Amino acid sequence: MPAQTCFRHTRRPADYRCQQCGRPICERCINNARFCSKECNARYSSFIADYERPVRRGGGGVGRALLVLLLTAAVVGGLVYAQQRGLL
Ligand SMILES: [Zn+2]
Ligand SMILES: [Zn+2]
Repeated sequence: MPAQTCFRHTRRPADYRCQQCGRPICERCINNARFCSKECNARYSSFIADYERPVRRGGGGVGRALLVLLLTAAVVGGLVYAQQRGLL
């Protein structure tokens, strides 16, 4: 078996693996992000978000999405309420 090559750079030997999906990646890719793609990076980040988030502050995409969802629900609910009361 020849040495595995990076799935992105087919001429480079893959000495590492994507932390998320396990695809072989090369030194250049691992230096970029430790992942084979931004998708894997994001997936992995959200996966470990519950444990710690040492690098970025104000991240928490899931929490923010939930907040937006709640706000939207509140606004819509308020509109429906007002409409039913004939306030609009
Ligand atoms: Zn990956
Ligand atoms: Zn590569």
